[in-house]
Amino acid sequence: QQKKKWAATAPRVASTRRALQIFDLTYGVQFGSLWPSIRISLLSEQKYGALVNNFSDAEQVTQQLEDLNAMDFISESQRGQDLDSAADQDVCSPNSSPQTQTELEVESFDTFVPPISPNIQCYTFPKGDVSLFHPARPDTLGLLGYYLLDAASILPVLALNVRPGDIVLDLCAAPGGKTLALLQTGCCRQLAANDISTSRTGRLHNVLRSYLLKEHRKIVRITSWDGRIWGDIERNTYDKVLVDVPCTNDRHSLKEEDNNIFTNMRKGERQMLPKLQLELLVSGILATKPGGTVVYSTCSLSQLQNEYVVQKAAELLAVQHNINVHLEDLSYFRRLFWNTFSFYSDCSVGELILPHLTANFGPMYFCKLTRLC
Ligand code: SAM
Repeated sequence: QQKKKWAATAPRVASTRRALQIFDLTYGVQFGSLWPSIRISLLSEQKYGALVNNFSDAEQVTQQLEDLNAMDFISESQRGQDLDSAADQDVCSPNSSPQTQTELEVESFDTFVPPISPNIQCYTFPKGDVSLFHPARPDTLGLLGYYLLDAASILPVLALNVRPGDIVLDLCAAPGGKTLALLQTGCCRQLAANDISTSRTGRLHNVLRSYLLKEHRKIVRITSWDGRIWGDIERNTYDKVLVDVPCTNDRHSLKEEDNNIFTNMRKGERQMLPKLQLELLVSGILATKPGGTVVYSTCSLSQLQNEYVVQKAAELLAVQHNINVHLEDLSYFRRLFWNTFSFYSDCSVGELILPHLTANFGPMYFCKLTRLC
């Protein structure tokens, strides 16, 4: 009786406040002297990127964005890189038919630049410029010219290196920012976009309708299944798999009470996240063809949700399924995108974008795994 009364009158701690207390304890230890700078950035206005819709009048859209003094951080990063490799990046376009994999594999070692998914354009304002983009407007066909998102969330899609003719799975796809980016490559032969939440797949449907004509949506299959079963139902099927898992969504958790995973009622769910993430990643790898690649990503700073999940998945696959994976070195992303993002230098596997006041994107963790057998 007494306990009940206490529970009813105890002061309610806002979820955002609880999130900050927990982050101070855990990230204070994990990042040491870097934490105060990350903390203030997370609590400040975040920056956006404008993902250009190649299915709309892209030339006009890019001109409008350039008039605002925004820059496509991807093409900027390619400037000065080897021309042959840069040419490779352009071989398929959203409106052309994909070339085969072998046509692309002519590469000389001394000119090698690790390939990234082609044809994606994402505009950002320069470091230190905190201008905002206006919401996109429909063109004459009713299609929106760009999609606003955290520019760091394009990096996992670039890392996946989608090639012409690829069969692609986006295991946790809604509301669809990364699905839309995958489609901008013009390379997907088929794209399975899944999310367990039917309300969120509804949003995904709406996003695709706002950015693509019906004929371009034909290659997309939207489902609402638990991603953990994918490895059983479609094993060894996909060339490329994106596993963008549910996570503590750190920036959101500090800003919004709505749908906040730090509410007391969701404590159990929060504690089970690394297990769910591990199961989703293992499932994604099982759904990949031998030789295919998987990118795992979160928008959390937590080592437990990032490197730990990746290492555990590699171990578990070796022991339980006799499957070996290679963890790719993605440090070339730092070389390519140092001018746009603040990278953490101490990840044991994968790359982590740290929020920074002059480049307030992220957090975004991404790691690439190649399935060897
Ligand atoms: N990739 C999305 C994007 O770029 O817009 C964001 C994905 S969000 C980080 C994680 C998603 O995972 C949520 O939409 C959530 O509904 C979904 N999810 C959670 N548990 C899942 C499960 N067991 N299987 C598939 N999706 C799941």
